[in-house]
Amino acid sequence: MQQDVIVIGSGLSGLTSALLLARSGRKVLVLEQHARPAPVVNGFSRQGLYFDSGFHYVGGLGKGGAFRPLFRHLGLDRKLELFPFAADRFDQLKIVSTGETYALPVGFAEIRRELGALFPQQREKIDRYIGEIETTWSRFPYLDLNTDIADYAMQTVHGESLKERLGEFAETPELLSLLSMHSLLYGLSPEMAPFTLNAQVAGSYYHSAHGIRGGGRALVAALLELLDEAGVEVRCGAEVTSIDAEAATVSGVTLADGEQLQATEVVATLNPALLPQLLQPGQLRPAYRKRLAGLKQTCSAYIVFARSAQAIESLQKSNLFVQPQPGLLAANPDCPLRERAYYLAAAGQEQNGGHGVIGIIPAHVDEVADWVDAGPQRSPAYRQHKERIGAELLALFADNNPELAGLELLELATPLTLHDYSLAPQGAVYGVGRFLGQYNPHPMTRLRGLFLSGQAIAAPGLLGTVVSSYLTCGSILGHEQLRGEIRTCH
Ligand SMILES: Cc1cc2nc3c(=O)[nH]c(=O)nc-3n(C[C@H](O)[C@H](O)[C@H](O)COP(=O)(O)OP(=O)(O)OC[C@H]3O[C@@H](n4cnc5c(N)ncnc54)[C@H](O)[C@@H]3O)c2cc1C
Repeated sequence: MQQDVIVIGSGLSGLTSALLLARSGRKVLVLEQHARPAPVVNGFSRQGLYFDSGFHYVGGLGKGGAFRPLFRHLGLDRKLELFPFAADRFDQLKIVSTGETYALPVGFAEIRRELGALFPQQREKIDRYIGEIETTWSRFPYLDLNTDIADYAMQTVHGESLKERLGEFAETPELLSLLSMHSLLYGLSPEMAPFTLNAQVAGSYYHSAHGIRGGGRALVAALLELLDEAGVEVRCGAEVTSIDAEAATVSGVTLADGEQLQATEVVATLNPALLPQLLQPGQLRPAYRKRLAGLKQTCSAYIVFARSAQAIESLQKSNLFVQPQPGLLAANPDCPLRERAYYLAAAGQEQNGGHGVIGIIPAHVDEVADWVDAGPQRSPAYRQHKERIGAELLALFADNNPELAGLELLELATPLTLHDYSLAPQGAVYGVGRFLGQYNPHPMTRLRGLFLSGQAIAAPGLLGTVVSSYLTCGSILGHEQLRGEIRTCH
């Protein structure tokens, strides 16, 4: 069957790209290898309790937020109900060695005030630093409709690292912790993370932090409804094994079962390191294939999904970051579990009779190396490994936060789970990382009709993937047309 566009992958970027392209009048088909659409963010239920898997909160959607016009343009504002996170402590940080817990309030002025009060000797520098984030976080294509998109087509991720930018606070380790803690949300250490990426991710949350009523499941349902209205088909259990081309132009794709589907454009939202496997030699320049295949991935993670007998007060409309020692906070799995920083969020806040806790801690695929090739039917030894890690993590959470004593483990995701859900190499939690100095994947490729989209193109997160979809679809439809449409949504 002939399509105008085939989108590979039904994650946030695949669904968003499909929507934008279908609205331009194209016939669009989305193909997803997993049995369910948007497997990373769709969440799941255990024993009647809903858990989010790849979405907890979103930044930049408050009044005047740079993400709002895109949300409105997509039609998500009509379908979803947002709720604000706690104004006085949307994110908290506990430093285990000192026992101190710090709270970040929503809003740049409020953060300046809070940090200035905590660290009065650094007040001026804090004012300058937070001011810089305030003015730069949204200076990205499509968040700021006046930025030059050509700037984004750089060959490599470049600029100052977060560590370099925070160098002026080196004598105040607790402040370093607070200003680098959001690196857990994009999976790079402050040495390797561009300051601009941190400004975009952390800055969006400093601006405003919201949850979505119904969580990731509601977000996916809203996108699917919008796609249905636009006449888009989403096929699950459809793994693309080859992108086909004739005369240096895309002609369609082939699925794992041998079915061939024709299209004049293909948008690949899978992890770009996997793209070379789908292409025949000669379809793309060898140097480009090598660059894509060699892209470094973010770390993986263990994710605890647990039940608590009572509501966890400290996690109500708030997340808790936990760091063993003060100083730059890195998503580092190369140390024992107890020495890793981690992140806690509440689950199932809207349901009666059960309160869930989600804990995400960096992990390395080598920790589950024994079971990598075992396929979905993994051995009892794998289950025992999960039980042991789960018990160790519950004990760690309880030791560091007495409110979390007595949690019951309902599920544990490992790097293998994350791989099954997205096919990301090494179960990379945020896919390809935007490491400083790394090649910067771009929406356009030299194979006519083949485009890339997804978190590797802009940044991880709902905001980053939506921006990536606009960058990609703007490359197809014309940036001025899309930007013109968004201007009407301000
Ligand atoms: C634990 C966790 C917590 C998170 N928390 C938040 C949060 O609170 N807020 C936030 O904004 N973001 C959060 N994120 C990040 C966010 O979920 C991701 O950035 C986003 O989902 C990535 O979307 P994507 O479309 O780029 O990639 P993906 O979701 O990985 O989509 C790619 C899709 O392609 C499919 N695919 C791969 N290969 C093929 C193939 N050959 N054929 C067909 N299909 C294929 C995959 O199965 C996958 O569904 C979190 C992520 C994780 C993992």
